Amino acid sequence: MITLIVPCYNEQESLPIFYQEVIKVVQNMNCDYELLFVNDGSKDQTLDILKGLAAGDSHVKYLSFSRNFGKEAAMYAGFCNAHGDYVAVMDADMQDPPSLLPEMLEILENGEYDSIATRRADRSGEPPVRSWFARKFYHIINKISDADIVDGARDFRLMKREMADAIVSMSEYNRFSKGIFGWIGFRTYWLPYENVERVAGETKWNFWKLFKYAIDGIINFSQVPLSIASCFGIFMTFCSFLLLVAIVFRKTVFGDPVAGWASTVCVMIFIGGIQLFCLGIMGQYVAKTYLESKHRPHFIISETNEDDVKRVK
Ligand code: UDP
Ligand code: MG
Repeated sequence: MITLIVPCYNEQESLPIFYQEVIKVVQNMNCDYELLFVNDGSKDQTLDILKGLAAGDSHVKYLSFSRNFGKEAAMYAGFCNAHGDYVAVMDADMQDPPSLLPEMLEILENGEYDSIATRRADRSGEPPVRSWFARKFYHIINKISDADIVDGARDFRLMKREMADAIVSMSEYNRFSKGIFGWIGFRTYWLPYENVERVAGETKWNFWKLFKYAIDGIINFSQVPLSIASCFGIFMTFCSFLLLVAIVFRKTVFGDPVAGWASTVCVMIFIGGIQLFCLGIMGQYVAKTYLESKHRPHFIISETNEDDVKRVK
Protein backbone atom coordinates (compact mmCIF):
# COMPACT_ATOMS: atom_id res chain seq x y z
CA MET A 1 0.00 0.00 0.00
CA ILE A 2 1.11 3.54 -0.73
CA THR A 3 0.16 6.54 1.40
CA LEU A 4 0.08 10.00 -0.15
CA ILE A 5 0.40 12.73 2.46
CA VAL A 6 -1.05 16.02 1.27
CA PRO A 7 -0.73 19.10 3.52
CA CYS A 8 -3.46 21.62 2.71
CA TYR A 9 -3.79 25.18 3.86
CA ASN A 10 -6.50 27.23 2.17
CA GLU A 11 -6.54 25.02 -0.90
CA GLN A 12 -10.25 25.07 -1.74
CA GLU A 13 -9.61 25.89 -5.41
CA SER A 14 -6.76 23.42 -5.95
CA LEU A 15 -8.12 20.40 -4.06
CA PRO A 16 -10.82 19.24 -6.52
CA ILE A 17 -8.35 19.50 -9.43
CA PHE A 18 -5.67 17.71 -7.43
CA TYR A 19 -8.01 14.90 -6.41
CA GLN A 20 -9.19 14.30 -9.99
CA GLU A 21 -5.63 14.15 -11.31
CA VAL A 22 -4.13 12.06 -8.55
CA ILE A 23 -6.94 9.52 -8.59
CA LYS A 24 -6.47 9.00 -12.34
CA VAL A 25 -2.81 8.21 -11.77
CA VAL A 26 -3.01 5.98 -8.69
CA GLN A 27 -5.89 3.89 -10.00
CA ASN A 28 -3.65 2.78 -12.85
CA MET A 29 -0.76 1.92 -10.58
CA ASN A 30 -2.18 -1.45 -9.46
CA CYS A 31 -1.37 -1.05 -5.81
CA ASP A 32 -3.55 -0.20 -2.83
CA TYR A 33 -3.44 3.44 -1.77
CA GLU A 34 -4.65 5.93 0.81
CA LEU A 35 -4.85 9.68 0.34
CA LEU A 36 -4.03 11.28 3.67
CA PHE A 37 -5.02 14.94 3.57
CA VAL A 38 -3.90 17.13 6.45
CA ASN A 39 -5.97 20.27 6.83
CA ASP A 40 -3.61 22.74 8.45
CA GLY A 41 -6.21 25.04 10.05
CA SER A 42 -7.52 26.40 6.75
CA LYS A 43 -9.78 29.42 6.94
CA ASP A 44 -11.68 28.61 3.74
CA GLN A 45 -13.83 25.64 2.65
CA THR A 46 -10.92 23.15 2.53
CA LEU A 47 -12.26 20.98 5.38
CA ASP A 48 -15.75 20.78 3.84
CA ILE A 49 -14.25 19.76 0.52
CA LEU A 50 -12.19 17.07 2.26
CA LYS A 51 -15.27 15.76 4.06
CA GLY A 52 -17.08 15.63 0.73
CA LEU A 53 -14.23 13.69 -0.89
CA ALA A 54 -14.05 11.30 2.08
CA ALA A 55 -17.78 10.64 1.89
CA GLY A 56 -17.49 9.54 -1.72
CA ASP A 57 -14.20 7.62 -1.55
CA SER A 58 -13.04 5.31 1.23
CA HIS A 59 -9.41 5.84 0.18
CA VAL A 60 -9.60 9.44 1.38
CA LYS A 61 -8.51 10.05 4.98
CA TYR A 62 -8.27 13.48 6.52
CA LEU A 63 -6.73 14.92 9.66
CA SER A 64 -7.81 18.41 10.58
CA PHE A 65 -5.69 20.60 12.88
CA SER A 66 -7.17 22.81 15.58
CA ARG A 67 -5.29 25.78 14.05
CA ASN A 68 -2.57 26.52 11.50
CA PHE A 69 0.60 24.73 12.65
CA GLY A 70 2.58 25.11 9.40
CA LYS A 71 3.51 22.73 6.59
CA GLU A 72 6.25 21.05 8.61
CA ALA A 73 3.79 20.05 11.34
CA ALA A 74 1.27 18.93 8.70
CA MET A 75 3.85 16.65 7.07
CA TYR A 76 4.85 15.26 10.46
CA ALA A 77 1.23 14.49 11.35
CA GLY A 78 0.99 12.69 8.00
CA PHE A 79 4.11 10.61 8.66
CA CYS A 80 2.88 9.74 12.17
CA ASN A 81 -0.42 8.45 10.80
CA ALA A 82 0.56 6.89 7.46
CA HIS A 83 -0.15 3.17 7.09
CA GLY A 84 1.45 2.51 3.72
CA ASP A 85 4.50 0.38 2.94
CA TYR A 86 5.49 3.31 0.79
CA VAL A 87 4.90 6.90 1.82
CA ALA A 88 4.89 10.00 -0.37
CA VAL A 89 4.50 13.70 0.41
CA MET A 90 3.01 16.02 -2.17
CA ASP A 91 1.58 19.55 -2.34
CA ALA A 92 -2.08 20.12 -3.09
CA ASP A 93 -1.42 22.80 -5.71
CA MET A 94 -0.24 20.47 -8.53
CA GLN A 95 3.31 21.81 -8.36
CA ASP A 96 4.28 18.23 -7.57
CA PRO A 97 2.92 16.46 -10.67
CA PRO A 98 1.11 13.19 -9.76
CA SER A 99 2.09 11.92 -13.22
CA LEU A 100 5.61 11.32 -11.86
CA LEU A 101 4.35 8.80 -9.29
CA PRO A 102 4.39 5.65 -11.49
CA GLU A 103 7.98 6.32 -12.53
CA MET A 104 8.98 6.96 -8.91
CA LEU A 105 7.30 3.75 -7.77
CA GLU A 106 9.02 1.77 -10.49
CA ILE A 107 12.47 3.01 -9.46
CA LEU A 108 11.69 2.32 -5.81
CA GLU A 109 10.48 -1.23 -6.53
CA ASN A 110 13.70 -2.04 -8.37
CA GLY A 111 15.12 -2.12 -4.86
CA GLU A 112 18.27 -0.16 -5.53
CA TYR A 113 17.04 2.95 -3.70
CA ASP A 114 15.14 3.67 -0.49
CA SER A 115 13.61 6.91 -1.62
CA ILE A 116 12.95 8.91 -4.76
CA ALA A 117 13.26 12.64 -4.27
CA THR A 118 12.47 15.37 -6.76
CA ARG A 119 14.17 18.64 -7.45
CA ARG A 120 13.41 21.42 -9.84
CA ALA A 121 15.62 21.28 -12.92
CA ASP A 122 16.22 25.04 -12.96
CA ARG A 123 15.06 28.23 -11.29
CA SER A 124 13.38 29.84 -14.29
CA GLY A 125 10.24 31.79 -13.52
CA GLU A 126 11.60 32.92 -10.17
CA PRO A 127 12.61 36.50 -9.27
CA PRO A 128 16.43 36.81 -9.77
CA VAL A 129 17.00 38.13 -6.23
CA ARG A 130 15.23 35.13 -4.75
CA SER A 131 17.24 32.73 -6.93
CA TRP A 132 20.45 34.38 -5.82
CA PHE A 133 19.56 34.05 -2.13
CA ALA A 134 18.39 30.48 -2.64
CA ARG A 135 21.67 29.46 -4.31
CA LYS A 136 23.72 31.16 -1.60
CA PHE A 137 21.64 29.44 1.08
CA TYR A 138 22.27 25.97 -0.33
CA HIS A 139 25.93 26.75 -0.81
CA ILE A 140 26.36 27.91 2.80
CA ILE A 141 24.28 25.25 4.51
CA ASN A 142 26.07 22.44 2.70
CA LYS A 143 29.41 23.86 3.80
CA ILE A 144 28.51 24.19 7.47
CA SER A 145 26.22 21.27 8.28
CA ASP A 146 26.46 17.51 7.96
CA ALA A 147 23.00 17.17 6.44
CA ASP A 148 23.23 16.83 2.67
CA ILE A 149 20.78 19.38 1.29
CA VAL A 150 20.30 19.48 -2.48
CA ASP A 151 19.74 22.79 -4.31
CA GLY A 152 16.20 23.02 -5.61
CA ALA A 153 15.04 19.96 -3.66
CA ARG A 154 11.28 19.82 -3.20
CA ASP A 155 9.43 18.08 -0.41
CA PHE A 156 7.83 15.80 -3.05
CA ARG A 157 9.22 12.35 -2.24
CA LEU A 158 8.31 8.71 -2.30
CA MET A 159 10.01 6.56 0.31
CA LYS A 160 10.04 3.19 1.97
CA ARG A 161 8.49 2.51 5.35
CA GLU A 162 11.92 2.39 7.05
CA MET A 163 12.66 5.92 5.98
CA ALA A 164 9.23 7.20 7.07
CA ASP A 165 9.80 5.58 10.48
CA ALA A 166 13.17 7.31 10.74
CA ILE A 167 11.48 10.64 10.04
CA VAL A 168 8.87 9.99 12.74
CA SER A 169 11.69 9.21 15.17
CA MET A 170 13.19 12.67 14.55
CA SER A 171 10.75 14.31 16.93
CA GLU A 172 12.39 17.73 17.26
CA TYR A 173 10.03 20.66 17.64
CA ASN A 174 11.87 22.95 15.22
CA ARG A 175 11.47 20.99 12.01
CA PHE A 176 13.30 21.63 8.76
CA SER A 177 12.35 18.74 6.50
CA LYS A 178 14.95 19.31 3.79
CA GLY A 179 17.56 18.93 6.53
CA ILE A 180 15.83 15.98 8.18
CA PHE A 181 15.60 14.06 4.87
CA GLY A 182 19.28 14.70 4.28
CA TRP A 183 20.33 13.92 7.84
CA ILE A 184 18.72 10.47 8.10
CA GLY A 185 20.61 9.31 5.02
CA PHE A 186 19.34 6.27 3.00
CA ARG A 187 19.93 5.77 -0.70
CA THR A 188 18.11 8.52 -2.56
CA TYR A 189 17.48 8.80 -6.28
CA TRP A 190 17.12 12.39 -7.52
CA LEU A 191 14.55 13.02 -10.20
CA PRO A 192 14.71 16.47 -11.82
CA TYR A 193 11.64 18.03 -13.41
CA GLU A 194 10.56 21.33 -14.86
CA ASN A 195 9.01 23.68 -12.34
CA VAL A 196 5.24 24.05 -12.76
CA GLU A 197 3.06 26.95 -11.72
CA ARG A 198 0.40 26.52 -9.07
CA VAL A 199 -3.03 25.62 -10.62
CA ALA A 200 -5.08 27.87 -8.35
CA GLY A 201 -4.88 29.90 -5.16
CA GLU A 202 -1.63 31.52 -4.15
CA THR A 203 1.63 30.64 -2.47
CA LYS A 204 1.88 31.01 1.31
CA TRP A 205 5.53 32.03 1.13
CA ASN A 206 6.87 35.53 0.65
CA PHE A 207 10.50 36.55 0.58
CA TRP A 208 10.80 37.22 4.33
CA LYS A 209 9.12 33.98 5.30
CA LEU A 210 11.59 32.14 3.08
CA PHE A 211 14.48 34.11 4.53
CA LYS A 212 13.40 33.21 8.09
CA TYR A 213 12.98 29.59 7.02
CA ALA A 214 16.54 29.60 5.64
CA ILE A 215 17.95 31.01 8.89
CA ASP A 216 15.96 28.38 10.83
CA GLY A 217 17.43 25.70 8.61
CA ILE A 218 20.96 26.87 9.32
CA ILE A 219 20.40 27.15 13.10
CA ASN A 220 18.72 23.73 13.20
CA PHE A 221 21.43 21.89 11.34
CA SER A 222 24.67 23.64 12.18
CA GLN A 223 26.63 24.91 15.17
CA VAL A 224 29.03 26.87 12.95
CA PRO A 225 27.39 30.29 13.63
CA LEU A 226 28.30 29.82 17.31
CA SER A 227 31.93 29.20 16.34
CA ILE A 228 31.83 32.36 14.22
CA ALA A 229 30.86 34.28 17.36
CA SER A 230 33.82 32.80 19.27
CA CYS A 231 36.19 33.53 16.38
CA PHE A 232 35.08 37.16 16.35
CA GLY A 233 35.79 37.32 20.07
CA ILE A 234 39.31 35.86 19.75
CA PHE A 235 40.12 38.09 16.78
CA MET A 236 38.96 41.23 18.62
CA THR A 237 40.94 40.34 21.76
CA PHE A 238 44.06 39.78 19.67
CA CYS A 239 43.64 43.11 17.85
CA SER A 240 43.10 45.05 21.08
CA PHE A 241 46.23 43.47 22.56
CA LEU A 242 48.31 44.60 19.55
CA LEU A 243 46.83 48.09 19.83
CA LEU A 244 47.67 48.21 23.52
CA VAL A 245 51.29 47.38 22.81
CA ALA A 246 51.42 50.02 20.07
CA ILE A 247 49.91 52.70 22.33
CA VAL A 248 52.25 51.99 25.23
CA PHE A 249 55.18 52.10 22.80
CA ARG A 250 54.02 55.41 21.32
CA LYS A 251 53.52 57.00 24.75
CA THR A 252 56.96 56.01 26.05
CA VAL A 253 58.81 56.98 22.87
CA PHE A 254 56.87 60.03 21.53
CA GLY A 255 54.98 61.36 24.60
CA ASP A 256 51.15 61.56 24.83
CA PRO A 257 49.31 63.44 22.07
CA VAL A 258 45.65 63.81 23.23
CA ALA A 259 43.49 63.46 20.17
CA GLY A 260 41.12 61.10 18.46
CA TRP A 261 37.91 60.86 20.53
CA ALA A 262 35.98 60.33 17.31
CA SER A 263 37.95 57.25 16.35
CA THR A 264 37.57 55.93 19.92
CA VAL A 265 33.80 56.24 19.72
CA CYS A 266 33.79 54.51 16.31
CA VAL A 267 35.75 51.59 17.69
CA MET A 268 33.41 51.33 20.68
CA ILE A 269 30.34 51.30 18.47
CA PHE A 270 31.95 48.75 16.18
CA ILE A 271 32.77 46.41 19.03
CA GLY A 272 29.35 46.97 20.61
CA GLY A 273 27.77 46.00 17.28
CA ILE A 274 29.76 42.81 17.03
CA GLN A 275 28.89 41.92 20.62
CA LEU A 276 25.18 42.37 19.95
CA PHE A 277 25.49 40.35 16.74
CA CYS A 278 27.14 37.45 18.59
CA LEU A 279 24.62 37.71 21.41
CA GLY A 280 21.90 37.50 18.76
CA ILE A 281 23.39 34.29 17.34
CA MET A 282 23.50 32.78 20.81
CA GLY A 283 19.97 34.00 21.44
CA GLN A 284 18.78 32.04 18.39
CA TYR A 285 20.14 28.81 19.82
CA VAL A 286 18.86 29.54 23.32
CA ALA A 287 15.39 30.28 21.92
CA LYS A 288 15.38 26.97 20.00
CA THR A 289 16.50 25.12 23.12
CA TYR A 290 13.75 26.83 25.09
CA LEU A 291 11.11 25.70 22.61
CA GLU A 292 12.47 22.15 22.48
CA SER A 293 12.59 21.91 26.28
CA LYS A 294 8.90 22.70 26.62
CA HIS A 295 7.97 19.51 24.76
CA ARG A 296 4.88 21.06 23.27
CA PRO A 297 2.98 18.92 20.77
CA HIS A 298 3.82 19.46 17.09
CA PHE A 299 0.15 19.43 16.17
CA ILE A 300 -3.32 18.98 17.63
CA ILE A 301 -5.92 17.15 15.56
CA SER A 302 -9.46 18.33 16.22
CA GLU A 303 -11.30 16.29 13.56
CA THR A 304 -10.62 13.20 11.49
CA ASN A 305 -12.45 10.35 9.75
CA GLU A 306 -10.02 7.72 11.06
CA ASP A 307 -10.33 5.82 14.34
CA ASP A 308 -6.76 4.94 15.10
CA VAL A 309 -5.11 8.37 14.99
CA LYS A 310 -2.40 9.99 17.09
CA ARG A 311 -4.35 13.16 17.81
CA VAL A 312 -1.56 14.94 19.62
CA LYS A 313 2.16 14.40 19.14
N1 UDP B 1 0.84 24.47 3.46
C1 UDP B 1 0.42 24.02 4.72
N2 UDP B 1 0.51 24.88 5.79
C2 UDP B 1 1.00 26.15 5.68
C3 UDP B 1 1.44 26.58 4.40
C4 UDP B 1 1.36 25.71 3.32
O1 UDP B 1 -0.02 22.89 4.86
O2 UDP B 1 1.04 26.86 6.68
C5 UDP B 1 0.74 23.56 2.30
C6 UDP B 1 -0.01 24.13 1.10
O3 UDP B 1 -1.40 23.91 1.21
C7 UDP B 1 0.59 23.37 -0.06
C8 UDP B 1 2.03 23.14 0.40
O4 UDP B 1 2.03 23.30 1.81
O5 UDP B 1 -0.04 22.12 -0.27
C9 UDP B 1 3.01 24.09 -0.26
O6 UDP B 1 2.61 25.42 -0.04
P1 UDP B 1 2.78 26.54 -1.16
O7 UDP B 1 2.29 26.03 -2.47
O8 UDP B 1 2.14 27.79 -0.64
O9 UDP B 1 4.34 26.71 -1.17
P2 UDP B 1 5.27 26.86 -2.48
O10 UDP B 1 4.91 25.74 -3.42
O11 UDP B 1 4.95 28.19 -3.05
O12 UDP B 1 6.65 26.74 -1.94
MG1 MG C 1 3.18 25.44 -4.20
